[in-house]
Amino acid sequence: MTPALDQPYVYRMRELVEPDWTRMPGFADVTAAQWADAQWQRSHCVKNVRQLREVMGDLLTDDFYADLERDQTERATMSMLVPPQMLNTMVPATGEGEAGMPRAGTAYTEAFYDDPVRRYMLPVFSDRRTDWPSHPHATRDSLHEHEMWAVEGLTHRYPTKVLAELLPTCPQYCGHCTRMDLVGNSTPQVTKLKFLAKPADRHQQMLDYLAATPTVRDVVVSGGDVANLPWKNLEVFLDKLLEIENIRDIRLATKALMALPQHWAAPEVVEGIGRITAKAHARGVQVAIHTHVNHVNSVTPIVAETARNLLDAGLFNIRNQGVLLHGVNDTPADLLDLCFALQDNASITPYYFYMCDMIPFSEHWRLSLGQAQELQHAIMGYLPGFATPRIVCDVPFVGKRWVHQVEEYDREHGISYWRKNYRTSIEAADVDALSREYVYYDPIHTLPLSGQRWWPGQVDLDSAHELAVEAAALSRLASVGSKA
Ligand code: SF4
Repeated sequence: MTPALDQPYVYRMRELVEPDWTRMPGFADVTAAQWADAQWQRSHCVKNVRQLREVMGDLLTDDFYADLERDQTERATMSMLVPPQMLNTMVPATGEGEAGMPRAGTAYTEAFYDDPVRRYMLPVFSDRRTDWPSHPHATRDSLHEHEMWAVEGLTHRYPTKVLAELLPTCPQYCGHCTRMDLVGNSTPQVTKLKFLAKPADRHQQMLDYLAATPTVRDVVVSGGDVANLPWKNLEVFLDKLLEIENIRDIRLATKALMALPQHWAAPEVVEGIGRITAKAHARGVQVAIHTHVNHVNSVTPIVAETARNLLDAGLFNIRNQGVLLHGVNDTPADLLDLCFALQDNASITPYYFYMCDMIPFSEHWRLSLGQAQELQHAIMGYLPGFATPRIVCDVPFVGKRWVHQVEEYDREHGISYWRKNYRTSIEAADVDALSREYVYYDPIHTLPLSGQRWWPGQVDLDSAHELAVEAAALSRLASVGSKA
């Protein structure tokens, strides 16, 4: 036998375990049949602190509930919505008193505070940074998707692909949601943008645009999360999409595959996937699901079995696009454990990890570009090449760039400079679009001391100037776009 080498990461095939939901006082009497029912899951989601207390009871101390309440009032950009399936993956050891399982009260609360899934699904006030809770250049629509709407909700950023936001809701709300401007209910801090047109009209406008734009071949059917669209409505849209000759790739965006797998396990949904994929296959079109799993604890047997059933029903692929988050998945082991569980147990292909976008109050989650580059280096060579995820930065006005594609990187001030090789839909007449440098900013607390000292002096002057320049450029581009 070859002696084991001392490796930075040691691979072990994982056996998945569904955590025992009856450890939570509010779910103590819930049966397996209830748990497997999508409607039961939806109607027992935790939407506020009172409901969390009803489920968790004395497992958590009053201090935690107060911390959460304060965050909801003063910081949260997303309202609370956690399905039982996700709640069950927080502090997931099975059975009170078993090894590694803290008992109720202070020890359990500490474990809950430290839990990676809790950190992004139930953020608390004390999680957030107090020095720079938001980056000075954070914005509500940090990727400027609305400015690139070809019709309402259809973002045309890349030359051959579009993002179709069919609806503005999800069955779960992630605290770090990049689409916080639009998705979910308003919070005390954020009044959400509302679609103006009726859903059926918007969907038809999208289909009309795609039929009239033969350069687009690839549609991300998203939201929100398509699991919140009644299946029959989604199937109607997909049927029409499949009629458009130029559409060759369709990707259904749904975090619910792991947050509420019961939706995707429902027989009417699996049968519908079978019909759609059979039609797509006959036309040479690939239909895939793109899901969003950030931590290995979310990959449970129910999730894995649901994913494999959907592949059996005819899906071409299921790919994962996680978000890189401090305290959730910011070590090589976190990323590799997750990727191997997805690949080995659930037949889900690790695809991307996005750097967390520059939305308000996200500094405690964000990593620097340098940290992301180190993580990319650390995870190379373990997974099969086709399942080795790329860590990408979604650069405003550019799109996804692999973290090693940066043109210049001022590490002292945390400013990276990027270029692109295509025009977005609002840059038809912008002669400088391909030569301009686009910027992305590291969290200030990750900078060397000299950089941290530099920023306070820049904020008023630079952000006022930059916002004015940006507003002028956008108004020029919007008028160009509307004439194009
Ligand atoms: S599932 Fe996606 S769109 Fe919905 S809240 Fe989470 S990140 Fe946002």
